[in-house]
Amino acid sequence: MTKCLLIASNNPKKLAELRTLLMDLPVELKTLRDYPDVREVVEDGRTFRENAKKKALACARQSGCLTLADDSGLVVDYLKGAPGVYSARFAGPEKDDLKNCEKVLEQMTHAEDSKRGAAFRCAVALATPQRVVSVVEEEVRGYITRTMRGRGGFGYDPLFFYPEFGKTFAEIPAEQKHTVSHRGKALRKMKVVLSRYLKSEK
Ligand code: IMP
Repeated sequence: MTKCLLIASNNPKKLAELRTLLMDLPVELKTLRDYPDVREVVEDGRTFRENAKKKALACARQSGCLTLADDSGLVVDYLKGAPGVYSARFAGPEKDDLKNCEKVLEQMTHAEDSKRGAAFRCAVALATPQRVVSVVEEEVRGYITRTMRGRGGFGYDPLFFYPEFGKTFAEIPAEQKHTVSHRGKALRKMKVVLSRYLKSEK
């Protein structure tokens, strides 16, 4: 019987990305829509890793399914790691991308060019209903711009400048972003772990 793999995310962009990446694995992909009774997990961990683990384990326990969960965000050197795990709600509980970007830019007004380093980080956890099987974490480093640039992407993409491309993440196609992004790298790493796990369970 084919194993099911629940992707514990409600974000359509992330789901699409994960589907493409995991397409060739011998698993039946499920989303939270397939499990309407699974309750939302409070992301109150101090790290991306803690939140990803908590989400994966809680959703695996409630669904009975092997589960993949991620947590990610922006870490700004000048702001001593903020917004970090509070990235989605940095400017308030309404999780407004534009307000979040404006708040970062405002707090960076006096930061010189050499002090504008930042990273996107992403932790991805794999869990069964019994235990967390594995967690991987990756990051991509860049700089915070002085104004927002580009219309693509989401979240903090318009202010994250990636020097190797000479553009912000909102100025490039999603496929190009994911060749270097925190999430792209973490998911590719997790795919290797997942493949091995599925073989060992056969
Ligand atoms: P979560 O992983 O869905 O909890 O995402 C947390 C927040 O981090 C998002 O709402 C965005 O604000 C930010 N974030 C995470 N990854 C990215 C990215 O690739 N680009 C822009 N913002 C991101």
